[in-house]
Amino acid sequence: MASSRYEERFWQKKCLEEMTETEWELLCDRCGKCCLVKLEDAHTEQIYFTDVACTFMDQATCQCSDYNNRSKVKDCVKLDSGNVMELSWLPSSCSYKLVANGMDLPSWHHLISGSEYIIHSSGASIKGRVISEQCVKDQDLEDHIIRWVD
Ligand code: SF4
Ligand code: SF4
Repeated sequence: MASSRYEERFWQKKCLEEMTETEWELLCDRCGKCCLVKLEDAHTEQIYFTDVACTFMDQATCQCSDYNNRSKVKDCVKLDSGNVMELSWLPSSCSYKLVANGMDLPSWHHLISGSEYIIHSSGASIKGRVISEQCVKDQDLEDHIIRWVD
């Protein structure tokens, strides 16, 4: 049965290109991992994750506090169906990557569980484990490199 806002289990029936804007936005699990500061080794081009979150990250919800204006933020990358598989730094748990690879969503995803909290209580988000980039000097960012398990 179709919902008025989105088709039931749309992620199993549609590819990313076919999703409505509402479905696209709902697909995000709100883990917050894509909004962490990343460092790139100039020689190897390897990307390192840190536990430092973008200034605009609302750490209570793990969501962007200025989502509609994020295009003005330097280094903020807008995901779309064309770049999801090209962004090597997206975590393997990212819902968009999972769907692009023909996989289902995890049990803690709000579209499966019906809860927006389980992702946090299960440890799948960055909640409670990061600090804002406002609190870290550029020269200290390397001290914040960590390996996120996803
Ligand atoms: S501007 Fe918003 S969407 Fe972009 S990286 Fe920062 S918190 Fe994330
Ligand atoms: S990593 Fe993917 S699923 Fe998680 S918040 Fe970012 S876009 Fe959404």
